[in-house]
Amino acid sequence: MPPPLASARNPGAAAGGVDELAAAWRAASTVVVLTGAGMSTLLVTQNVDGLHERSGVPRERLVTIHGTDAAIECMECGRRDERALAQRAWEAGVAVPRCSCGGPWKPATISFGQSLVQADLHRALEAAGTCDLLVAAGTSLVVGPINEMVPLARRAGARSAILTASETPFDQLVDWKISRPLTEVLPALCALILG
Ligand SMILES: [Zn+2]
Repeated sequence: MPPPLASARNPGAAAGGVDELAAAWRAASTVVVLTGAGMSTLLVTQNVDGLHERSGVPRERLVTIHGTDAAIECMECGRRDERALAQRAWEAGVAVPRCSCGGPWKPATISFGQSLVQADLHRALEAAGTCDLLVAAGTSLVVGPINEMVPLARRAGARSAILTASETPFDQLVDWKISRPLTEVLPALCALILG
């Protein structure tokens, strides 16, 4: 029974670059600590900055639902590789770095209007439907269909919390709505879970 932790960049936190980074890092370390304590966790993030990949969250515990800047993807064959590969080619003067199949590389992010990766969406929704606790941290929960994780977890009988200063469409639905900074709330939550 995994307690998934849904985390996302808060679009309202424009002036809070450092705070946002600290909060994202805190969300990741919460997952690392809970996983280390033997809990089944899943971190679903809308961030594309690659921070969660670098934060020590095990790859199998992470869903980057909008893709990631840390990787590149071939527009022809769909092959993925490290961003550094395209970066090196570009720095060496190659105007359009290309995959061995000839297709151009693009960042492995999902643009507006582009479909989500179905396997990622399935993993996230399945975890929401089978977890004991769902925590939505730093997200205004306005982007679907991933925001459906919250009502799905509620319908399946999970406890649920929304940790964000902004209003969300699901504030009335959850057990706890907490507006304090994530850097305060997440360590406290972690301590509470580990009891
Ligand atoms: Zn290719």
